[in-house]
Amino acid sequence: MPLELVTLPALSDNYTYLLHDSDSGDTACIDVPEAKPILDELSLRGWRLTEIWLTHHHHDHIGGVDDLLAVHDAKITGAKADRHRLPPLNREVEDGDRFEFGGEAIDVLDVSGHTLGHVAFVAKGSGYAFTADSLMALGCGRLFEGTAAQMWDSLQKLAALAPDTLICSGHEYTQANARFAVTIDPDNPDLKARVDRISSLRDNNEPTVPSTLSDEAATNPFLRAADPAIQAHLDMLGAEPVDVFAEIRARKDRF
Ligand code: ZN
Ligand code: FE
Repeated sequence: MPLELVTLPALSDNYTYLLHDSDSGDTACIDVPEAKPILDELSLRGWRLTEIWLTHHHHDHIGGVDDLLAVHDAKITGAKADRHRLPPLNREVEDGDRFEFGGEAIDVLDVSGHTLGHVAFVAKGSGYAFTADSLMALGCGRLFEGTAAQMWDSLQKLAALAPDTLICSGHEYTQANARFAVTIDPDNPDLKARVDRISSLRDNNEPTVPSTLSDEAATNPFLRAADPAIQAHLDMLGAEPVDVFAEIRARKDRF
């Protein structure tokens, strides 16, 4: 039985996720932009929150932790490298660590780039990767603290997961990402089809996340820096993928 996944919008364009194990009744929350939507969903479902997993230190990912802890006695997991700027951690993790939740192994990947110390949590058994502001639907996080090379490495780790992995990312930025993606990869039919799907989802106010890794591999320009059509379009045919990635990231910053 896969762990049950609930996707919740929060603040203006963030997402938070609940992961629930029906056998033990344990529930984890991944990132806490604000407490209210999480508290409402937990009481609606009659779930108790036992764990909070934090991906990185930005306020829109941790701002609701205190309000959540006021109601639920949850243990907090976050990056050891970020302990000085995260809420007090009960479990400090780093790249390659593995812990158990709901009878399933949860792998920790360092996915620095957006920040240093950004981690992703991967539940391989259920096929979920909580990537927050590293790999996003048709995008990747802006480089606030890390380098393009660090983000490229981080994306390669995520790209190596099973193709049907659900990428649970941190924001509803997909439509803006789509407008940019078509300027980088204009002749990609998979991208065109995905842009249409994204538009109809947003027209109905539906989330565009989670997405599948296979969709990202086929359409996300930040994962496709080795693609000859994209390289040719950027006048960078034969360049190192990391350099092509850096160019795509720089163009997005100016877009
Ligand atoms: Zn962030
Ligand atoms: Fe964010």
